[in-house]
Amino acid sequence: MAEFTLELNDDQRQVRDWLHGFAKDVIRPAAAEWDEREETPWPVIQEAAKVGIYSLDFYAQQFFDPTGLGIPVAMEELFWGDAGIALSIVGTGLAAVGVLANGTEEQIGTWIPQMYGTPEDVKVAAFCSSEPDAGSDVAAMRTRAVYDEAKDEWVLDGTKTWATNGGIAGVHVVVAVVDPELGSKGHASFIVPPGTPGLSQGQKFKKHGIRASHTAEVVLEGVRVPGSCLLGGKDKLDERLARAREKARKGGERVKNAAMATFEASRPAVGAMAVGTARAAYEVALDYATTRHQFGRPIIDNQGVAFQLADMRTRIDAARLLVWRASWMATTGKPFTSAEGSMSKLYASEVAKEVTAQAVQILGGNGYTREYPVERMHRDAAIYTIFEGTSEIQRLVIARTLSGVPIR
Ligand SMILES: Cc1cc2nc3c(=O)[nH]c(=O)nc-3n(C[C@H](O)[C@H](O)[C@H](O)COP(=O)(O)OP(=O)(O)OC[C@H]3O[C@@H](n4cnc5c(N)ncnc54)[C@H](O)[C@@H]3O)c2cc1C
Repeated sequence: MAEFTLELNDDQRQVRDWLHGFAKDVIRPAAAEWDEREETPWPVIQEAAKVGIYSLDFYAQQFFDPTGLGIPVAMEELFWGDAGIALSIVGTGLAAVGVLANGTEEQIGTWIPQMYGTPEDVKVAAFCSSEPDAGSDVAAMRTRAVYDEAKDEWVLDGTKTWATNGGIAGVHVVVAVVDPELGSKGHASFIVPPGTPGLSQGQKFKKHGIRASHTAEVVLEGVRVPGSCLLGGKDKLDERLARAREKARKGGERVKNAAMATFEASRPAVGAMAVGTARAAYEVALDYATTRHQFGRPIIDNQGVAFQLADMRTRIDAARLLVWRASWMATTGKPFTSAEGSMSKLYASEVAKEVTAQAVQILGGNGYTREYPVERMHRDAAIYTIFEGTSEIQRLVIARTLSGVPIR
């Protein structure tokens, strides 16, 4: 087992510096344009694929880093470049984690490479759990998956919403209800292969921030997928449902559902994204505060400005430490007995929102314009307290875990 250390090893430092270079030279200069265009930055994704950043191999290497720090270090650097473009580059990873968390080895080997495509022909993937009436309340999900035994096919019907890459993806991973009696315990995840009839894109959302990342509804009408597209396979599902029914009869012991397994694994990674955005805004603010003069001196000469910067940096470092702890725990198999994954996401996302707001304030009128990147960073940061479980839901998870009380 990897010893815990806060010092990155040579390999990690090399990867961090390489990603930082890509974020600085390729992502950051393209950020304003794709934010305005509100479109998926395919040329930047392709560039990332050419140098090996947008690939299964790259994510697998970071994912299997024995210290757990591979993914958070990578996310922080890419999102330091720009959150919208970085989400377009890493959004496929959420679908990939959905397959890694619930799929068989064969499914992992078959579908994850197809999610990324090749540098010549890049593809993206989507993870579709949220629905118009089932956001935080995952148990209210209505999309149904019904097994057609005669054909060994699953038939999916329903409407998904807020899906990153929804409709423009090749592979869609769709969470659906297989047993409505069991609430969120009766869910399962399915692969919908590229070009499957019946899957279409609904409305594409015009967003406040991360506008270079495509977010849309996904409509499923009589979508038929082979039995082999049920993640984990039918036997495992039947066993899991039987256990859940048994536990429901005995009185409500907790069983993990398919979407939750994905979210638990990805929350510290979202925290790392938030740290990247916060750090980017802090750096712009620090630079501005030392060069902008008012009253005959740099504005950082005022404690009112300098202390804000001190607090910003302190909180960013604290957020990173929570993220690294949770990532290390997840990788080294330590259970989140105090909801450490949720803690890291909660704190880092709140810090990103507050630090980017402070950066706008430190830049004054300039901070409020699109001439300076903190305006975009502030809009982007608002997503972190919403997706992958809102801050309120993280607090629920933490409070329930700590107290054992089913707080509502
Ligand atoms: C840009 C973007 C990308 C996304 N990408 C994906 C994706 O790829 N795949 C996917 O499946 N989903 C995705 N989502 C969906 C996202 O995870 C949901 O928006 C989120 O879970 C919140 O659900 P909701 O929007 O329905 O809000 P609601 O659940 O309606 O919540 C509204 C408000 O009520 C609060 N609230 C709700 N219940 C409680 C409670 N019990 N206690 C206290 N407060 C509560 C919430 O915290 C929130 O403040 C994305 C969303 C966005 C905006």
